[in-house]
Amino acid sequence: MPQRSDSFDLGGLALTSGEGRRLELHTGIEPFDFGGQRYAVTRDMVPVRLDVSRTTGNGWALRLRFAAPLEGPCMRCLAPAEPVFEVDAREVHQPGAGEELQSPYVGDDAELDLRGWARDALALAMPAQIACRPDCAGLCAQCGADLNEDPEHHHEPAPDPRWAKLGEIRFD
Ligand SMILES: [Zn+2]
Ligand SMILES: [Zn+2]
Repeated sequence: MPQRSDSFDLGGLALTSGEGRRLELHTGIEPFDFGGQRYAVTRDMVPVRLDVSRTTGNGWALRLRFAAPLEGPCMRCLAPAEPVFEVDAREVHQPGAGEELQSPYVGDDAELDLRGWARDALALAMPAQIACRPDCAGLCAQCGADLNEDPEHHHEPAPDPRWAKLGEIRFD
């Protein structure tokens, strides 16, 4: 069993300015609530590749890559879906520089919040809608029938409400 790293001590790498290191780590990613549905990463530990470079001025340039298999309902037809998302995220952390160069995932002690970063990066990599397949037809808006199983499914147009009103008029 590989060891799980929820955080990673960047300082422990003892890199000097301009030096870099590639690390193969494992982290946990918590389940998501997305579009009113719950999605879980199907692995307890996701293998991640972390590239760490020491920038001049005691900063860090970081790149995180991983593939996360998810499990949850299709947002169109509600059938179980198991999409896999590829994540490729970068962060720069330059202590003492402008606010945009401060990574929220790197602490003052150069401790990288690997788990938090992986979760946020995955959220950003998600499409607007999770579907069981790209051409999922979804459910009928009127009766909820699964349109994947019944592509011919349709309803007769509703009668014009004005005619319904006329039907209420009684002639003696
Ligand atoms: Zn679907
Ligand atoms: Zn219908």
